[in-house]
Amino acid sequence: MSGAALEIEDVHAYYGKSHILQGVSLRVAPGEVVTLLGRNGAGKSTTLKTISGLVAPAGGRITFDGKDIAGIKPHQIAGRGLSLVPEDRGIFGLLTVEENLRIAQRKDSLWSLADVYRNFPRLEERKRNGGAQLSGGEQQMLAIARALVNGPKLLMLDEPVEGLAPVVVDEIVAQIKQIRSSGIPILLVEQNLAVCTELADRHYILELGRIAYEGTRAEF
Ligand code: ATP
Ligand code: MG
Repeated sequence: MSGAALEIEDVHAYYGKSHILQGVSLRVAPGEVVTLLGRNGAGKSTTLKTISGLVAPAGGRITFDGKDIAGIKPHQIAGRGLSLVPEDRGIFGLLTVEENLRIAQRKDSLWSLADVYRNFPRLEERKRNGGAQLSGGEQQMLAIARALVNGPKLLMLDEPVEGLAPVVVDEIVAQIKQIRSSGIPILLVEQNLAVCTELADRHYILELGRIAYEGTRAEF
């Protein structure tokens, strides 16, 4: 599996009249884990949503795998090799674990569900359980597994350990390390500094819709 580079330059986004992203620029190189930090409301989730086509950019460039993807529709991102685990995880409580995985899988997916279960064996044991029967940590595992079913070239994760017990945080971090070692680059929105230190090659700090700081792992 090989990763692809993401580059966003001077991206702007609005909700109604509110100018939320005011010229965000960042890049993720193949094989890198890059974290995006910042206060509540700084625009971190909006940045991931704009890259994913869930929010329309009002200016700037978004390039992924050498192609312009600004203004892409959300249903097209999987086909371009991008994957997002959103803040709310988006697990369907009335669907089983297996159905939650299948709804995300494209016909031309590079991964079978057997591949997914090899990486997440606990999910296979529970594949006939409903999404609502999973704990918060298990739902997050399922959300990450689902983001991998098409074999993405880049994974975006929005606060994947938020609200989880420390032991579960360790499990999710181990899972993300495994994804990193498979060569998939990761753009990670994360507030937990211990998690950033463990995972990030570089980081950016977003303040009021602008990148205020860019740093290396050594600076945490
Ligand atoms: P948090 O750390 O709380 O998750 P964030 O950095 O991810 O914060 P965003 O969710 O990107 O922040 O929100 C940025 C700003 O945009 C906030 O002021 C928020 O209130 C506003 N906002 C977010 N979503 C919407 C929406 N759908 N409609 C209107 N305003 C929104
Ligand atoms: Mg957010």
